[in-house]
Amino acid sequence: MTPFFPLLERQDVRHGYLIDMDGVLYRGSELIPGANDFIEQLRARSIPFRLLTNNSQRTRRDVVAKLSRLGIDVEEEHVFTSAMATARFLAQQKPGGTAFVIGEGGLLTALHQNGYAVVDHDPDYVVVGEGRTFNLELVEAAVRMILRGAKLIATNLDPNCPTNHGLRPGCGAMVAMLESAAAVKAFSVGKPSPVMMRAARKELGLSTDETTIIGDTMETDILGGVQLGFHTVLVLSGGTSQEDLQRYTFGPEVVVDSLAEFSVVLEKKNWQSPWREANGRARVGEGVSLHHAHQAVLA
Ligand SMILES: [Mg+2]
Repeated sequence: MTPFFPLLERQDVRHGYLIDMDGVLYRGSELIPGANDFIEQLRARSIPFRLLTNNSQRTRRDVVAKLSRLGIDVEEEHVFTSAMATARFLAQQKPGGTAFVIGEGGLLTALHQNGYAVVDHDPDYVVVGEGRTFNLELVEAAVRMILRGAKLIATNLDPNCPTNHGLRPGCGAMVAMLESAAAVKAFSVGKPSPVMMRAARKELGLSTDETTIIGDTMETDILGGVQLGFHTVLVLSGGTSQEDLQRYTFGPEVVVDSLAEFSVVLEKKNWQSPWREANGRARVGEGVSLHHAHQAVLA
């Protein structure tokens, strides 16, 4: 009997996505239109993806709950935060170590899950993440610990973060204060650090060529992607405008208004990999215009 081969939508070239959240899926507490459909398509077609954030405040479960409120359905395994990346990194560097933490639940949970004890004297590391608990008392304690030999680790160095009401100071601004006071440089794990970007890519189970990062920030998402050799897609639905691109010495491969527009691109390719190899260089496939210099918007 002839075996029956169902007409599955075969993935010709394996591909998967690392997707930044803030400015890509949502802005503050508002869904960016089309983001939910994009994620739904990836899930329906078993295209691997991870949702990345440099924000270390929330646990995976908190992130899943926030996304669910916005109408985006994902599992905890789809979420990859800088808190997780930081905790895993420290567990590799010094298994079973101790940390003094300036940060919130997401970071504390990740450290505990990776075998770390959170202490308030003589820690191996001072770990700083995003949060609203920062005060001078904590800074003073942290500076003394660093001067006594604790290593300064940052979950990320974003200088500020967009909110519904404008910008708020980010982890990078708080870390700068500690660096200045203790005359040290922090080691940062979040985007664009290869520590986080590579760990997230490995979770996809894909090679660098098969990995595309989609983000709204040049200094983190796109820079990290360029440095690691991922394909890069900049969305203009967050903190970067088309005009801003001129200020950078590096650029994304493709610029789209939002995930909704990138969905149209992928739809034309029947959700196969949009990248094609030409002369050893990856190019966007037929029907998709590739950016040259600063004219980066897809037709
Ligand atoms: Mg972002």
